[in-house]
Amino acid sequence: MSLYTKILTKSLWVFHVSVSPCNNCDIEILDLITPAYDIERFGIKLVGSVRHADVLLCTGVVNHKVAPRLRQLYEQAAKPIFVVGIGTCTVGGATFKKSYNRAGAPLDKIIPVDAFIPGCPPKPEAMIDGLVKLIGTLT
Ligand code: SF4
Repeated sequence: MSLYTKILTKSLWVFHVSVSPCNNCDIEILDLITPAYDIERFGIKLVGSVRHADVLLCTGVVNHKVAPRLRQLYEQAAKPIFVVGIGTCTVGGATFKKSYNRAGAPLDKIIPVDAFIPGCPPKPEAMIDGLVKLIGTLT
């Protein structure tokens, strides 16, 4: 295991990007940093800039306005960056499946995605499980 990978497994820094969700997934992500779930015990920390992040957490269904900005954000991130789609919206659109403003593609057609955590919204436990499994794939 490289030194970089070893460091990553101890401390994943996460940038949360909201790509037009209903906001329930975002609220569940905020739950992760409360004392009840305390995601920092796994070394996972939310950061304020994609340039500092190892993981891009995306919520919502990509619309026409957001799609180019999401690509730009992905390009700005230091590589490697792991992309995780949170919620059913990122997979198939969920509630917004037939929306006129949907870019018409799941998240992985816009940027490469490493993992999806489905649910509407997924529970914090499911998100923790998904992120810990992602760390497991790095070891
Ligand atoms: S998956 Fe469900 S809860 Fe999450 S943003 Fe989409 S509609 Fe909202």
